[in-house]
Amino acid sequence: MIIRMFKLRLLNAIAPAYFFSATTVTFIFHFYFFIPTIFQSPGISLRASTVIHTGVFLYLMLNALGNYVMAIKYPAESSHETVIPACSADCSDKIDAHYLLNGRHFCKLCKKIILRRDHHCFFTGNCIGNKNMRYFIMFCIYTSCTCLYSLVLGVAFLTVEYNISFENPLTFLTLLPLSTGYFFLGVISGLQLFLVLMLYVWLGIGLVCAGFCCQQVLLVARGQTYCQMKRGQLVESRNSWKDNLSDVFGSRWALGFFLPVQTVEAFPRDIAVQHHKHD
Ligand SMILES: [Zn+2]
Repeated sequence: MIIRMFKLRLLNAIAPAYFFSATTVTFIFHFYFFIPTIFQSPGISLRASTVIHTGVFLYLMLNALGNYVMAIKYPAESSHETVIPACSADCSDKIDAHYLLNGRHFCKLCKKIILRRDHHCFFTGNCIGNKNMRYFIMFCIYTSCTCLYSLVLGVAFLTVEYNISFENPLTFLTLLPLSTGYFFLGVISGLQLFLVLMLYVWLGIGLVCAGFCCQQVLLVARGQTYCQMKRGQLVESRNSWKDNLSDVFGSRWALGFFLPVQTVEAFPRDIAVQHHKHD
């Protein structure tokens, strides 16, 4: 049990570091390799395509990083109980959280009792609940778009710079094993192998984020959480799917879709808690 918790705490520290490292590497590849190489034109200092691709990349990054910050800035609702209740007898959550009564969870990593908890996100180091679910979903969408966009530009870079044709799908599948072999034979440099490796990283993160995002949107529309799904508690919500979505995405959801801004108003429950505190 202690070793398992140590692994989770280690993951909680490594995942954000991995996220920022991958972001920095993506920035460097875009501005030092992809854009100057793919869109270069002799005699013309600045082309429209350079401006457009730089703008698209920065916009995707702004939304990915902005929603990442918002998910941490506006954390999941938590109760301010000082005494941690004991885990219920039928608790099956032995990994990162205790299931308590009334849908509450005690997150062992956040050390808080989270209301309407969905899951603990290791990349943000925070629990995801109804309050920050919108930012988390938008973070997944824009991270997926950024990764897949980087993959496309990475493939274009290899085509322009090294005349590698990707018309045959097998070219991409055999790229990593061949590049690894060429690296050990001294044919290609470590940087070139790293770029090839990043293509697979972008593809992997892009697909995982897109899949996870779809699952979360479906759960939100059903008025369910990932915790409930894991516990096999997928019962029909009393509200309509529109109410469930607006509960999470807020009334200004369209604005939040394009910019990382606050669109979720305070819940009546928060106001009630605040009134209770003032009493
Ligand atoms: Zn947590």
